Amino acid sequence: MIVIGAGMGGLSAAIDLAQSGARVSLFEAASAPGGKMRVVRVNGAAVDSGPTVFTMGWVFEQLFAEAGADFWARVPCARAKVLARHHWRGGAMLDLPAAADAARAAIAAFAGEREADGFDRFRRDAARAYAPLREAFMTKARPSPVELARRLGPSGLGALMAVNPFARLEGRLRHYFRDPRLRQLFGRYATYSGASPYAAPATLMVIAHVELDGVWHVAGGMIAVAAAMAALAAQSGAVLRYDSPVAEILTRGGKAAGVKLASGEEIPAEAVLFNGDPDALRDGLLGAAARDGGPRDAPRRSLSALTWSIAAQASGFTLLRHNVFFSDDYRAEFDALFGRGEIPADPTLYVCAQDQGDAPQALEGPQRLFVLANAPARGDQLTQKEVETCETRMRARLAEAGLAIDWATATAIRTSPDDFARRFPGSAGALYGRAIHGPLASFTRPASRTRLAGLYLAGGATHPSAGVPMATLSGRLAALQIATDLGLRRPSRPAAISGSISTPSAPVPATG
Ligand SMILES: Cc1cc2nc3c(=O)[nH]c(=O)nc-3n(C[C@H](O)[C@H](O)[C@H](O)COP(=O)(O)OP(=O)(O)OC[C@H]3O[C@@H](n4cnc5c(N)ncnc54)[C@H](O)[C@@H]3O)c2cc1C
Repeated sequence: MIVIGAGMGGLSAAIDLAQSGARVSLFEAASAPGGKMRVVRVNGAAVDSGPTVFTMGWVFEQLFAEAGADFWARVPCARAKVLARHHWRGGAMLDLPAAADAARAAIAAFAGEREADGFDRFRRDAARAYAPLREAFMTKARPSPVELARRLGPSGLGALMAVNPFARLEGRLRHYFRDPRLRQLFGRYATYSGASPYAAPATLMVIAHVELDGVWHVAGGMIAVAAAMAALAAQSGAVLRYDSPVAEILTRGGKAAGVKLASGEEIPAEAVLFNGDPDALRDGLLGAAARDGGPRDAPRRSLSALTWSIAAQASGFTLLRHNVFFSDDYRAEFDALFGRGEIPADPTLYVCAQDQGDAPQALEGPQRLFVLANAPARGDQLTQKEVETCETRMRARLAEAGLAIDWATATAIRTSPDDFARRFPGSAGALYGRAIHGPLASFTRPASRTRLAGLYLAGGATHPSAGVPMATLSGRLAALQIATDLGLRRPSRPAAISGSISTPSAPVPATG
């Protein structure tokens, strides 16, 4: 059994398949596990430069538990007390606490009682919709809309209808919030799957619920999650080979039959799981025979990003761990990104201050910062001018908020959509697969099993969705499918257990 790629989906599949008794060889092009979860070394400092928000801990708790390991012991985490500091021009600021009552109080203080009541309704509806979707969609093979309705049953359908899945997210948010800043704040969750809040279905409200349900700071940085998964895969018997790009998926008799590495080495296998972007298959990047394993259509791609991994002296504005600096006109931002394929003139910025915690504390000493602006996944290259203009605006926006970064002595390593496109072949820089735009988009993401027998898919561009936990679930679903098809001992289906889990009783301080 061969797994191509050591992203979240490849690693979780390798763990489950090895646990099922399969002989698993995993080939990864990069020199370390993690894929999009990666660290950039800036002047010797490790800056988490991929995902930084860790949610749905139950997914990892369960994956590890079924392999006989304790995730929380291997990857010490501390539950975040504040989800993020949100900043608007003019100085308005909202720190959104993780605890619901405290979040309500913060919203009341920020925007008044009526908005706080709206928040109560919002989080209740999002939580109601999340439970059946977790059970019937996220932890099961990709359904058709009819199959989903059948799985949900009358009560699940009722809960889903509470969020109006046919509405667009931003439109639905008007039902709860009059304050445009709160619609911007909760609409931003669409970007967690690379979508626009103006086009994504209202069901993406569940992403906001997922954060309210628990965000963790990972001691040692997010990369500790990938390292622990790779170690568990190896301990379970999988052989992981890095610096081993796969050039071709081999077929025999119309069936995937192994891989050929870029080095020329050929390895036969009964089945192949591809954790890269499925569009790479369609584009023939893994050989002509594997084209059949890719999607037929060319969907609208999700967002890419321009990111900066920074080591710098910074002062002034008090950063928490997670910070968002909003643009003035959110619609204009998404019109630019998805309508014209441009970097917005006034981009919303996300800043992860990796030496800061949840309590406001003046910045002291050198800071590790990760800054992200959404960018279009255009497929062609952004010009140097476009990239530099965005960088100038990024610096100006942070300075305007009062964050003084000493750029003269700072080191900043930029990653652009073309860099992402090179790292993740076939993606054109899109970081989350196809954009979830419209009520049916979730049903068209590639499923585990492909049209080419013996070839399977896993990862954030496949069912159920993008994001660290979702990509991990996709690997588990693919492993289950493979085990069923090959008659292996079947790994358990990822169960929809609750978000309340056994985090360590003495949380480890969240240092970066
Ligand atoms: C900047 C950024 C910020 C993000 N923020 C968050 C966040 O805060 N929270 C969150 O939950 N999610 C976040 N995400 C999304 C999340 O990181 C991804 O959805 C998830 O990590 C994707 O996992 P995956 O299984 O698709 O594998 P990927 O990470 O896509 O990895 C695929 C692997 O396959 C390898 N590969 C591909 N082709 C070949 C080949 N031919 N031969 C060998 N190897 C190959 C690649 O080298 C890569 O290592 C973020 C992503 C990015 C980029």
